[in-house]
Amino acid sequence: MERRCPDCGVRMESVTLQTNGGYELQVISDEKRGGILGSLGMNERLDIQPVVCPECGLLRTYVEAE
Ligand SMILES: [Zn+2]
Repeated sequence: MERRCPDCGVRMESVTLQTNGGYELQVISDEKRGGILGSLGMNERLDIQPVVCPECGLLRTYVEAE
């Protein structure tokens, strides 16, 4: 999906956002999952899509729709 910078109006470019250790960031929701993961008490993990504005450098992250 195309994202546009709210300040510049130009198309934002996809980038990879990682921790210093090279792990990709995830969103952890409070919503409990069903099935095996739910029985283990794990929360739902959602991938994120970071985008950067090439004009002003604004970084935004969106939770990826499943
Ligand atoms: Zn911008």
